[in-house]
Amino acid sequence: MKITVKVGTSTLTHKTGRLNIRRVEELCKVLSDVKNAGHDIVLVSSGAIGMGVGKLNMADKPQDMPTKQAAAAVGQCELMYVYDNLFQEYNHTVGQILITGEDLADSVRHENFTNTLNRLLELGALPIINENDTIATSEIAVGDNDTLGALVAASVKSDLFIVLTDIDGLYTADPRRDPNAQLISEVTEITKEMLQGAGGQGSSLGTGGMATKLSAAKIAMDAGVDMIIVNGASPEIIYDAVDGRSVGTRFIAKK
Ligand code: GLU
Repeated sequence: MKITVKVGTSTLTHKTGRLNIRRVEELCKVLSDVKNAGHDIVLVSSGAIGMGVGKLNMADKPQDMPTKQAAAAVGQCELMYVYDNLFQEYNHTVGQILITGEDLADSVRHENFTNTLNRLLELGALPIINENDTIATSEIAVGDNDTLGALVAASVKSDLFIVLTDIDGLYTADPRRDPNAQLISEVTEITKEMLQGAGGQGSSLGTGGMATKLSAAKIAMDAGVDMIIVNGASPEIIYDAVDGRSVGTRFIAKK
């Protein structure tokens, strides 16, 4: 299978913005193992801004554009350094691609991007993609990596798009506020009620929340790609998702 995995800042870092070492080590180990089993993996990773915040010892996530972009410039290096080292331990080679919404909107650039991705996979490498946050102002940015991940999964015609986040999946209500909220295990259509109940931003350092995940699910489903939202707290859950066991929330693609 060709599998696109999106990992969010809340999964990769502690609230301080510093790396969650145990988590990231486990993530790289599981992804390496899934790759060893014969699957192609494309990783869409957030964390540039969050890790930049940690590395630059900032107290909070910056709000102004130049500081966010500076944090991303520092954090993206750190992020790839960590991935390069950890995947190297399992003999996998990573390649970095940074893009903006403009690149995907332009048909020639989009095609170049897809060709590079496919060639990296043919060469046995593990592509790691993020938005190019150092130049992507709001006018040209995709804006969040849930959407970016779905666009990537659609571009390379993934069989599965796995979104690792900090809750177990889509609930009937916000489980952080409503104790009666129930996990929805399968979704065949994104309804208005779901979009209304999705709320805003999820974590303090990341960008997305359930709303961006639902719009990402719509992109994936329309493109014929199944998407699964799971809790990234234990990356071993990726094995269950790949093996087709019922975990998190699965959005069934339109076929
Ligand atoms: N590209 C951003 C980063 O690496 C993350 C965007 C998102 O969290 O959706 O910090």
